[in-house]
Amino acid sequence: MTTDQEARRRAAERSRTRADDRYVFHSWSAQGAIDPLPVAGGEGAWFWDEDGNRYLDFASQLVNLNLGHQHPRLVAALQAQAGRLATVGPTFANDVRGELARLIAERAPGAAAAGTDGDRRWRVFFTNGGADAVENAVRLARLHTGRAKVLSAYRSYHGNTTTAISLTGDPRRWPNEVSPDPHVRHFLGPYTYRSAFGARDDAEEGERALAHLREVVQLEGPGTIAAILLETIVGTNGVLVPPDGYLAGVRALCDEHGILLVTDEVMVGFGRVGEWFAVNRWGVVPDLVTFAKGVNSGYVPLGGVVVGEHVARTFDDRVFPGGLTYSGHPLACAVGVESVRTFEDERILDRVRTLGADVVGPRLREIADRHPSVGEVRGLGFFWAVELVRDRVTREPLVPFNASGAAAAPMGAVVAAVKERGVWPFVHFNRLHVAPPLVTSAEDLEHGLAAIDEALDVADGYAGVAT
Ligand code: PLP
Repeated sequence: MTTDQEARRRAAERSRTRADDRYVFHSWSAQGAIDPLPVAGGEGAWFWDEDGNRYLDFASQLVNLNLGHQHPRLVAALQAQAGRLATVGPTFANDVRGELARLIAERAPGAAAAGTDGDRRWRVFFTNGGADAVENAVRLARLHTGRAKVLSAYRSYHGNTTTAISLTGDPRRWPNEVSPDPHVRHFLGPYTYRSAFGARDDAEEGERALAHLREVVQLEGPGTIAAILLETIVGTNGVLVPPDGYLAGVRALCDEHGILLVTDEVMVGFGRVGEWFAVNRWGVVPDLVTFAKGVNSGYVPLGGVVVGEHVARTFDDRVFPGGLTYSGHPLACAVGVESVRTFEDERILDRVRTLGADVVGPRLREIADRHPSVGEVRGLGFFWAVELVRDRVTREPLVPFNASGAAAAPMGAVVAAVKERGVWPFVHFNRLHVAPPLVTSAEDLEHGLAAIDEALDVADGYAGVAT
């Protein structure tokens, strides 16, 4: 292309994205206060804007792009399915939908592929994404138990439909409380770095958080509670990895009272921490598991609930009053099937475990040692948080909880410094999260972490400066 042609191409691209500005109503935003980056393309762990600026996608978009941009196998599977059967209603049986359900059920918690009598058997109810997966998991739990109440954690995100946002334990719930689900209650989960229980280490935090939950269950009335819902590893609200023993303790508490355990794996399922489902790491078997995002890297929207056979059987003779026009959409499921096969052929779970333990974790700890603004780094696999503080002793966060405007400016400056270096981070409150596609090369991981290392000089400028 000549320079003139290239300039014309860019001008045409720009006029197209001006339509975004004029006509698209964007999520989670004051419409007048946003300036979204116009993205022109992507490949692997990288994407680029219309001016040709390239970014290493350290957020995997919204922590969903597990196999990266434009994976050739996923694109080919999508194209092939479009040519074969682009859509079919959920009342029909469909080969790719069935195949994906089988692949998921065989990898779900407690399921041995060979299947012996002691193994948990699963079925899969497909949805369009994570929020409706949570919505339907709660529906299943309520109808199965005949109880209404559901407990979920503060510092959690479960989606933006009525019950899912009511279950959410972060400020995104607040403006949505005009018509909440009336049967939701919240509890505090473990967060050792900022322990609400005065714990000194993970073991103590796990025990005390469990004692707290036990008390909440007691005070709410165990016989009124259908389910306890938790993110296996809290995602957006801090990459909070539960202390060993915590999830097993919640499982035991649920068993004591006939409460169902629902783990939300929308963000951490499908390889993010080197497991098909993060809960597998602790050998705990929930009753229901929600998933979305990484199941097919979001090439076509897809989510679902993995339903324990004992819950599914409730609906053998009784109608399950739930459904969606696009439940198990063949385009989405075809990409899901190819994604599972690609995970296996490319040994993705192994690479995430190995590179997480040998490259990401050690490099982040080294960064933490060098920068006084880093209070803590924590995480697993390809899922890490860098928690920024003004003072390591008092642990005062770099910006206040839920800060906006001028109060959030220090984080804005840090994020700008990361982006200037061609890396796109995931940001929440006073934290940078490192959540790159699971196919990111060791060199690109190093490149991204070096950018964060350099950008943290900006955060250090605020450390020791009282607010
Ligand atoms: N659950 C968790 C843990 C999530 O992280 C999210 C989204 O980020 C959701 C549920 C909601 O998923 P979706 O945005 O696909 O509705």
